[in-house]
Amino acid sequence: MKFVFADSMDYVDPNFDFIKDQTAATRKPYWDDQYPHEILGYAPYDGILVSRAIVGDHRFPGKYTEAQSMRFRRVGARKFLRLDGPKYADMMLMGDCGAFSYSAMSAPPYTPEDTVEFYADGGFTHGCSIDHIIFEFDPTVTGMDGGSDAAHDRFDITLELAEKFLRASRGLGKSFTPIGVVQGWSPDSMADAAHRLLAMGYRYLAVGGLVPLKTEAIHQAVAAVDAVVRCKPDARMHLLGFAKADAISQFCRYRVASFDTTSPLIRAFKDARRNYYLRDGSRSICYYTAIRIPQAHENNALKRQVKSGRLSQENLARMEASALTALRDYSKGRLNLDAVLDAVVDYARPVYWSPREEEQALDRRMDTLREQYRNTLDARPWERCRCSVCAASGVEVIVFRGSNRNKRRGIHNMGVFREHLREQLAS
Ligand SMILES: [Zn+2]
Repeated sequence: MKFVFADSMDYVDPNFDFIKDQTAATRKPYWDDQYPHEILGYAPYDGILVSRAIVGDHRFPGKYTEAQSMRFRRVGARKFLRLDGPKYADMMLMGDCGAFSYSAMSAPPYTPEDTVEFYADGGFTHGCSIDHIIFEFDPTVTGMDGGSDAAHDRFDITLELAEKFLRASRGLGKSFTPIGVVQGWSPDSMADAAHRLLAMGYRYLAVGGLVPLKTEAIHQAVAAVDAVVRCKPDARMHLLGFAKADAISQFCRYRVASFDTTSPLIRAFKDARRNYYLRDGSRSICYYTAIRIPQAHENNALKRQVKSGRLSQENLARMEASALTALRDYSKGRLNLDAVLDAVVDYARPVYWSPREEEQALDRRMDTLREQYRNTLDARPWERCRCSVCAASGVEVIVFRGSNRNKRRGIHNMGVFREHLREQLAS
């Protein structure tokens, strides 16, 4: 089963100065920065998914600058992502339209023809048909029952575009694999869509609409599509936007050839508690809470308290500096655990403070946080990881602060996740 990473320009500055908290004045973003496979020295994934919506074009700007978007289309995904060396020759380069970006529109803004052109320019090995997300899922209805009018509309639009896309993609030749996207509002409607896509000629189906679903509902959807896929000996599935990456081994029972996710990266700075991954001896992943030390002059919650006069900028800056210094001293063995906990929790208090919460509630939150931080700091996981990110950044990788630390931690997580996945799949 291949792990495909959905890229969203997730690179870091290899020369970032943690002490001064700044990048060099001469740094050229993208050019001087490093993708996960560059900073780790190996690719922690089997492929990369690039969405049209992220690249953008003259009509719909994406996350790329105009110059980057133009360069992407000129040199192709492989060169743009700096995956053009021989060791990456087998890397899956998957394209999709990024259906979330236009989910509020009544119909997708792209045509099968301009999508094929995007895949041709990008030199993609795999590309998804244009889909329209259905945000409903009801496992209790059978056949084509249930589903709102909008769900039925989107179901029809997705299949109609898939048929046209398959025809248009023939010009891309044998090195390109078209993927037909399944959208539905129930297991049976998804099975029906899968059946129709196979009848059109697709042999690689992507199960869409999984992002908001709970693991149990994902099983119901995937099992329904799997039963149809198994009727064709050469058919297989991709799971689109599979956010429950930790549960992926449960999906080995289905004919899943690949899945894409950003979750190991995103968890590093979006999860409340599980920010740093480390494999333990018992074939599972241990999760640690990163230590939040936001920049006092950039954090919105802190800026509001300064503006209202509750806190002074000087005091905050002093607490921020002591938290950072304490953490560094602790990592070098110059400070004990309770002293570093005092410093980081002192600064966490204003970070977590809310005008709508009573002091006692905040006290309880700080007690819980202190225990989570104690667990992280006592275990010193950054010293136990041998990846190049942790080796180079040391304790800075566990600090929840700014994109250079947060994304480094996410990239480290991807390496851990990849190893874990390999072990799970081998057993
Ligand atoms: Zn690491």
